[in-house]
Amino acid sequence: MEKGRSRNVDLRGLLQIPKRYFVDLHDVVAREPFVARAHVGVAGGALLALALVALNYGLGLYWHSLDAVLLLAGLMMLAGATAMAWRRRNAPARLSKGPWSRLPYSLLLFALAIAMVGAVALTGTALAPWLAGLIALAFAAGAAELALGVGLGGPMKHAVAGLLHLGLHPRPERFGDKRFATALKPLRLTADDMGVGKPADFTWNKLLSFDACVQCGKCEAACPAFAAGQPLNPKN
Ligand code: SF4
Repeated sequence: MEKGRSRNVDLRGLLQIPKRYFVDLHDVVAREPFVARAHVGVAGGALLALALVALNYGLGLYWHSLDAVLLLAGLMMLAGATAMAWRRRNAPARLSKGPWSRLPYSLLLFALAIAMVGAVALTGTALAPWLAGLIALAFAAGAAELALGVGLGGPMKHAVAGLLHLGLHPRPERFGDKRFATALKPLRLTADDMGVGKPADFTWNKLLSFDACVQCGKCEAACPAFAAGQPLNPKN
């Protein structure tokens, strides 16, 4: 991103992220209801659990009832991650494999650890050291996927890049009154500037858009050149 060309962006777009995420983006994801529900389970469960831990233990409230909600948040995330793992077993060819196939299982481990912590806190059960160690390992595996994945370019990088992309979108009119505006913008070519010849010729927020790609392959599935066997794959 830092290699891209400069571009002034309207930072007020960052305030629009919640609406663009929960309304505009959800409208697109909801075209596949199973995937949308799995996404709500995983992302909703994870965010709820992190907020509860910060509230109940970070602020030192220690409300017993919030431990029950923490358990529910873990189960919600567990259900979503299980649905994602199940879908990966019969994944459409357009979905990328590799780390993207690993992701549901990392999230499953993380959700399992959260649910176990919630259950232990709620019931006051004394854990055997080996079980406490297993829960810590599951938590660490999931946390590594979330944190290192963002920093080292793993699949979860899309979560941060995707949110910023929604706020700093190259075509903000996409989210306004002219929703689904797709008209091409005029090219302003000069003798010194013939457009894009290499990645660094893109503006920085367009490079950010590339990082936001979730490799769902919907562009690949809809691309007539790819369908005709031409050496063009918009996803790749
Ligand atoms: S660029 Fe293609 S693969 Fe990436 S998110 Fe968009 S449709 Fe999916």
